[in-house]
Amino acid sequence: MKTIRLREGKERSLLRRHPWIFESAIAKGGADAGETVRVESHAGEFLAWAAFSPESKIRARAWSFDESQRIDNELFAAKVAQSIQARSRFDIQSDGLRLIHGESDGLPGLVVDRYGDTLVAQFLSSGVERWKAVLADALLHSTGLTRLYERSDTSARKLEGLLPSAGWLRGSGPTELTLREHEWQLGLDIATGHKTGFYLDQRDSRKQFAEHARRLGFERVLNCFCYTGGFSVAALHGGARHVTSIDSSAPALERAQANVALNGFAAERADFLDADVNASLRHFIEQGRTFDAIVLDPPKFAPTAAHADRAARAYKDINRLAFKLLEPGGVLFTFSCSGGISADLFHKIVASAGIDAGVDGYISQRLGGAPDHPMTINFPEGEYLKGLVVMRK
Ligand code: SAH
Repeated sequence: MKTIRLREGKERSLLRRHPWIFESAIAKGGADAGETVRVESHAGEFLAWAAFSPESKIRARAWSFDESQRIDNELFAAKVAQSIQARSRFDIQSDGLRLIHGESDGLPGLVVDRYGDTLVAQFLSSGVERWKAVLADALLHSTGLTRLYERSDTSARKLEGLLPSAGWLRGSGPTELTLREHEWQLGLDIATGHKTGFYLDQRDSRKQFAEHARRLGFERVLNCFCYTGGFSVAALHGGARHVTSIDSSAPALERAQANVALNGFAAERADFLDADVNASLRHFIEQGRTFDAIVLDPPKFAPTAAHADRAARAYKDINRLAFKLLEPGGVLFTFSCSGGISADLFHKIVASAGIDAGVDGYISQRLGGAPDHPMTINFPEGEYLKGLVVMRK
């Protein structure tokens, strides 16, 4: 068994059961990609069993903090079973849900989403890459399903020195699927969509948006960064008269339009704009257009805290423009999915955007990721998605 020894004083986060071991914390030792290593303090005490990753800044990720634990097939089967079991205790009103959420489920670098009877997985660390076949078998066994598609084609793999990889891992079948979420249906393509095909983490915020539409009676809705139109369909379900949806991805917009039709809404209730959001918001201001509900759900502007400054300016800018377009009494649903922007900082950014726009509002609700994308006590980085509902005065 190979061992890595930490520098003096670098054991603290592992003692708190945080699973990451950074390159800079290691005094000596190494192993092959994904190989299990024993992690020791500078004084030689056992701290964790971890998967080594020779090319990543996160040089190892812990599997277990129990010295007597064997890192073997049974351990992975138990971790998979436990994560899936936990989902049955969460309130999930959809047949699409996240079964494994990486570090939060004790499987660093593994993401698994279920869409009906199809599983879609991303193997994003050397550790889960090495155990891929074992994990795939455990996933099929625990769910009783036969189809597992791999979408390990994200840039995160590069940080681990891994090549992209995508396609059926187990079974085969169509990659175009229809998801049932709350009261609506949404089509997606697991082979070509973003991430595993869909943004399941916004499920409950979409429901909140539908409920606001129902209660407040939206006339004109603007859904920015709409992707496949989840918030647009939610608004229409809530009775919104008309929704304008903006995205810079043409395939996403086509799917959004199809999703509006799939749910039986007349085409004249929805407009779709293939454009940059920032430019569109400026254009609408020039035209004197206003909306009584706006969604801002941009992509990750700050992957890490190092990007926070630039990202903060970008968030502030779109929020300022959105406030200017919001009718008095209108509602803004604004989000950040950047790990590098804390909930507190996001709140400050939105507040200063309001001040710059000359608009005041009630922060009526704080929103987060759906419960199947959990945060845990040991891994605060699990909190990436935060949102605010602001009602303009
Ligand atoms: N709200 C969506 C998820 C949004 S993901 C949902 O509920 O499913 C972010 C989206 O922003 C992606 O679809 C991406 O294509 C789009 N995007 C990224 N940069 C953009 C830009 N500058 N202007 C418009 N859309 C952009």
